[in-house]
Amino acid sequence: MRLVLLGAPGAGKGTQAKKLVEKYGTPQISTGDLLRAAVAAGTPLGKEAKFYMDKGELVPDSVVLGMVEARLKQDDCKKGYILDGFPRNTKQAETLDNMLTAMNMALTSALSVDVPFDDLMKRLTGRRTCKACGQMYNIYFSAPKKEGVCDKCNGELFQRDDDKEETIKKRLEVYNAQTAPLMDYYSKKGIVKSVSGTGNIDEIFNKVCKELGLN
Ligand code: AMP
Repeated sequence: MRLVLLGAPGAGKGTQAKKLVEKYGTPQISTGDLLRAAVAAGTPLGKEAKFYMDKGELVPDSVVLGMVEARLKQDDCKKGYILDGFPRNTKQAETLDNMLTAMNMALTSALSVDVPFDDLMKRLTGRRTCKACGQMYNIYFSAPKKEGVCDKCNGELFQRDDDKEETIKKRLEVYNAQTAPLMDYYSKKGIVKSVSGTGNIDEIFNKVCKELGLN
């Protein structure tokens, strides 16, 4: 599968991507995760990125595009890839197309995970992630058995800096203005599929697999 996941912040793209990785072994390329790793490592790129991430704005294309290109060139992407959180605007989508054509691994699908706008806020403010294994929870919908502790590995759960209310509002605005138009971009290419992202995670995953023709 050579896939782009579309959908607003909080739609559950990352959760579904992780389930696809688990079941099919296709690598997930999450620009958000790559950027957060650079921030945590304190690299110059990470320092530049943090400035924008903390405000809920997009990190400049020049930073993100180089990062994605380097990742796509790694060997494991020859068997496919799942792009999660990238592209975020038309410029990124166009550059990605050129990159993938040159590498002979063009996209096969763009899957949109649709969640009503009003639900997104609760999903984002309630989101908690395990520091150790990256497993995600939501204190409203899928709370861990013990508060603040990962069910899977006992790691400590944390709230992302950009999951605070003011930043979330900005991220959703940026999504509407810059990222939502990509639905049109990929529709014109005839590769858009969509699933409702509301309800039980495993049921959504079954719909995802069905839409993508996987078994
Ligand atoms: P995410 O985890 O995908 O919601 O991304 C968190 C933050 O990282 C975003 O709010 C942006 O500041 C930054 N980011 C992630 N992916 C991109 C991208 N493709 N282009 C620009 N900024 C990005």
